[in-house]
Amino acid sequence: MPLLGHGLIGAGVAAATQRDVGASKLAGAWPGLCVLLAYGPDLLEWPVIAAGLPLVHGAPASLLVSAAAGLGIFAVWRTFGGRSWMLLWAALAAWMSHPLFDALSGGVPLLWPWSLALIGADYLGVDSGTHMERLVLELRWFLPVVMAGALVAICRVTRSRRRAWAAGASFLLGLIGAAVGSVAVLAVAAAALILIAGWSLGLPRVRTVAMTGVVLMPLLALGAAEAYAYQHLSAADAYYRAGQWRQALAAYDEARRFRPVAGTAPSLYLSALCHRRLGEIEAARALYEDCLRRFPGHTTAAFGLALLCLHEKDPAYHDPRRAIALMEEAIAAARSPEQRAAYQRVLDDARRAVADEH
Ligand SMILES: [Zn+2]
Repeated sequence: MPLLGHGLIGAGVAAATQRDVGASKLAGAWPGLCVLLAYGPDLLEWPVIAAGLPLVHGAPASLLVSAAAGLGIFAVWRTFGGRSWMLLWAALAAWMSHPLFDALSGGVPLLWPWSLALIGADYLGVDSGTHMERLVLELRWFLPVVMAGALVAICRVTRSRRRAWAAGASFLLGLIGAAVGSVAVLAVAAAALILIAGWSLGLPRVRTVAMTGVVLMPLLALGAAEAYAYQHLSAADAYYRAGQWRQALAAYDEARRFRPVAGTAPSLYLSALCHRRLGEIEAARALYEDCLRRFPGHTTAAFGLALLCLHEKDPAYHDPRRAIALMEEAIAAARSPEQRAAYQRVLDDARRAVADEH
């Protein structure tokens, strides 16, 4: 799942359609609303899991929930949106961009509740790699979307051909920067486009800025929960590397305190690893199972549980058949050749273990 990308898409949709808002009641809230809708499924998931209800991760991005959200958007549009069909399409596009880009960056249970299978894969590459690599990739994929929105906004408002051409050239430069992977070129192009937009559209009204802040409150709260989780995950990783399993466990627990949407899975399977190191196998297994229940198809959790089933000699936990099932599924969903090879090794060991039983 992209972290920044959804917001950049929402901002792009808002920029391209701000002119259609006109004097409707949505005017001041439009930019904030578009960004909020682009994060809609995650914002819906957060209070549900925070309330302790068993919800599969990504379920609010399913087709069923998206259809219900579409009806809600339609109702709000009928009440506040004036007569502009463009606003309705824009709001629906902002919501639907979320399942689409989640599917392109890891997969999403589109057919929930009928099937928990993740549909899609990490085609964009933003769901693997370090945080820095992620950030750069997300900017490369999604900054051009905001820039396209700004270009549309400028072309719809300005009467100066020269400004429209300059905006087009900046956008093109941004695309080239994104394509060759140069964040510097992308940043220069974005800055140029912001300048031209400021020139053509004027500064945003104070009321719009204030309204945007108010509308985005839930998103800022979720962002704070994720940042809190990230901070404690990093601290826990340091304890883990130092072999201080108890301290690591406390920090992983703390990472889950505000029930983050993105930070929960790593804190669960890494806690399981700590428990295994401490010899607390029952606790480790329970956490792996919990992680797989909430995040079906989570290959890292499946890998950890398969290793546990394979290597624990206690008959209460030794279950090479389970390891085989877990690894067959994980190999199909592996993100890299290295991952696939690691899962394959465990699968081969588990098959050998089953053969030895006979
Ligand atoms: Zn999502």
